[in-house]
Amino acid sequence: MIQKTNQLFFREQLLLWNRTENDRDMPWKGEKDPYKIWLSEIILQQTRVDQGLAYYKRFIKKYPDVKSLAEAEDQAVFKMWEGLGYYSRCRNLLASARSIASDSGGEFPDTYENILALKGVGAYTASAIASFAFGLPHAVVDGNVQRVLARFFGLEIPIDSTAGKKIFAELAQQLLDKHDPAGYNQAIMDFGATVCKPQLPLCVSCILKEKCDALATGNVASLPVKKKKLQKKDRWFYYVIAEYKTKIFVRERTGKDIWQSLHEFILMEEEREMPVEQVVKKRLPSIFGSTAYSVESVSQVYKQLLSHQTIRAVFIRVKLKALPVMPGYQSLAGIETGKLAFPRVINTYLEDEQRGNVQLSVF
Ligand code: SF4
Repeated sequence: MIQKTNQLFFREQLLLWNRTENDRDMPWKGEKDPYKIWLSEIILQQTRVDQGLAYYKRFIKKYPDVKSLAEAEDQAVFKMWEGLGYYSRCRNLLASARSIASDSGGEFPDTYENILALKGVGAYTASAIASFAFGLPHAVVDGNVQRVLARFFGLEIPIDSTAGKKIFAELAQQLLDKHDPAGYNQAIMDFGATVCKPQLPLCVSCILKEKCDALATGNVASLPVKKKKLQKKDRWFYYVIAEYKTKIFVRERTGKDIWQSLHEFILMEEEREMPVEQVVKKRLPSIFGSTAYSVESVSQVYKQLLSHQTIRAVFIRVKLKALPVMPGYQSLAGIETGKLAFPRVINTYLEDEQRGNVQLSVF
């Protein structure tokens, strides 16, 4: 049972901290344009502020409003997104921009329900846009907010359980300052990011310490509680960079996965690490058919960590003696591939190659 007096204390002290101590500076702070808030929130999902900032600025410059984004070419937007990862965010941005442009002439939705109906927008982002742009009374609940609430009120229910999500969402909504939802939401997020941090929270100087349950019970480090431990899947990608004269084979990934709409070289995927010689012997003849080829070099292993999986990739350069028929692949001049968006693991390899950093082993 959470006492009303503690709730009152929490809200008042938090707002006091916001007025007197909060000096967190963010370029989109105080922003009222729902398009810009939406863009910044989508970029910041699974991305650190320092990394996302440059992307945000580039997007705003090139696509200053919904209409300009809606009219952009897919590949140009993916190229701009390159390096941020989680490309479904980019696909959803484009899809939502286009539906806003066609359904309401570019006018951003101004109710919580209609904002929530946009592709890729969850409860957190909808609350952020609704409160920051339109002053609507919807409390944001992200990891920062859950951590502050779990610690201050001593909530041990897992934040990723269905019951836990409901309790945190209800409590956040009760605590919200209905007269200034934008200010309150910003305050609690900033407080979680700068004071009640995941590691080394500033309890000694904290404005809430007098009534903080976790501090009193010695549970600061163990809160919030999480139920699931993520089991990561390992995947091994053997990429073949097949060249014929100045042409290279690439394809667009069309499957519904995190790399949908990005490009890649010829992919041979294995469930576990295999000797490259074995992969080449087993797979290449069926890829190239009767076309003669020679394997020129093999790279070191490149790694990309994703939230649910670890990708390891090896790049195999192959020279073709003729142009084979490769359904699903395009043969492009090397220079044309520069306009395409690739997954990070491929870009890292290409950058290393340009700098001469690939440790090639001759096949
Ligand atoms: S006292 Fe420590 S744990 Fe409690 S709210 Fe403040 S920073 Fe967080």
